[in-house]
Amino acid sequence: MQNENVVRTEVNVLKIAESYGFTLDSIHETTHRGSCPKCGGHDRFIINVERNRWYCRKSEGHTGNNRGDAIQLVMLVEGCNYVEANRLLSSSALARTSTVAPATPKAKEITPTDPAIILEMKAIHDLAWQHNTEGSKSSDFLLSRGINRATQEAWRMGLSCYEFASGYKTPTVSLPWYDDKKQFCGISHRLIKPLSKDYKTMFPKGMKWGSLLCGWHTHQAANDTLVIVEGILNAPSIYQAMSGKFNVLTPGSENCTFSRWPMDAIRRHKRIFVWADKPEVAQVWADAIGEGAIPMYSRISADGIKLDANELLRRDVLRAQLLLRQRFAVAGKHPGQIHITLR
Ligand SMILES: [Zn+2]
Repeated sequence: MQNENVVRTEVNVLKIAESYGFTLDSIHETTHRGSCPKCGGHDRFIINVERNRWYCRKSEGHTGNNRGDAIQLVMLVEGCNYVEANRLLSSSALARTSTVAPATPKAKEITPTDPAIILEMKAIHDLAWQHNTEGSKSSDFLLSRGINRATQEAWRMGLSCYEFASGYKTPTVSLPWYDDKKQFCGISHRLIKPLSKDYKTMFPKGMKWGSLLCGWHTHQAANDTLVIVEGILNAPSIYQAMSGKFNVLTPGSENCTFSRWPMDAIRRHKRIFVWADKPEVAQVWADAIGEGAIPMYSRISADGIKLDANELLRRDVLRAQLLLRQRFAVAGKHPGQIHITLR
């Protein structure tokens, strides 16, 4: 009989899932998702190949665990206890065919942005930054969102314009993107009047934004807490609420790939919060960063407003929320659901 530890660490969770006939889509070289064998849905069941773990983002409907390794997956599917699952796994052909080391993720080749395009974006950014003066369209928009002039300056936010392929032009707040070596690598445009939910943040054609993070230009080596947050306006909101004492980075959108995130520079922080709108996105990012990264997501208020970082800043509760979460993290407790009564 196989040693339990061998089963736990070596049986490939993805292969077990496949042997049970799960259909999973690969959303990233390390992440597969699909329907949960326990509670259904179509994308709530997630397998992280790199960590060889599974996770269901719906904890309701799971009387036992909603995450785990190969044994816990067998427990979930077979509805059996730990000892029984371990026995099944140890004795079955299933384990023998799947006792392989987790697949090593292939380094996906991502073509870097063309240097000529970077130069062009740099020129646009330099002008945009100068145009974000007091009383300008961008500055007034940011002030209406609670982002003050000092934060606008620290994040080098600019007034720019985005032109759609149709020729339609619209004013934007632009943000420069720097890498962890503080090299300029691009620019994003947050439409001041978004056309729709899907056309809010735009990137210049040719910019390979998908694997980059914005915010390294405000990064302080002395800060030991990092927040990675979805949303262009959420990042400066957190920076402002914490008076620059938390480092903040944003991939811009949930549709990013993290295969080229500078993980060493990220993991250097003592505490890492990962805040996305959807809990499953936060979980996937936290899993990619590894042990200790704490997933958070935006709650929806009773009247249907998404309480993201910018909304909490405007309600003047963002700092309190973050400090509370930090205190829980210091105490080694999972922050879980922390509720702050909103006025
Ligand atoms: Zn489930």
